[in-house]
Amino acid sequence: MALSDSTVLIVEDNELNRRLYRNGLEYHGFTTLETDRAANVLDLLRTHRPDAVLMDIQLPETSGLEATRWIKSDRELHTIPVIAVSAFGIPPDNEILRAAGCDAYLAKPVPIEELVQVIRCHVRSRRGV
Ligand code: MN
Repeated sequence: MALSDSTVLIVEDNELNRRLYRNGLEYHGFTTLETDRAANVLDLLRTHRPDAVLMDIQLPETSGLEATRWIKSDRELHTIPVIAVSAFGIPPDNEILRAAGCDAYLAKPVPIEELVQVIRCHVRSRRGV
């Protein structure tokens, strides 16, 4: 199934990383939205209903983990997959990530092919295809 109609919200405060994710995802047929801070996340999700969120954990002011908790405790948004990324070597089965509701975790630097694969997998399983 082509996922060319899929949209990913990129939440990342580093401009270079944002550009890398944007270019990589758009190259693979995704549409992207982006923000550099957690405070914008819920509004963007409610307005655009993307198919997945790429969530940097280390964000200014409010962390990506906290933003993930907001998403996962929202009655209408909680089914949107959240793929967490972090420069810290957090084990993928980390209890804090799981408790926050992250659906997957990738360590930076994130290989784009792997990122695309993980996002596709979660978008497909959410759509039931
Ligand atoms: Mn960051």
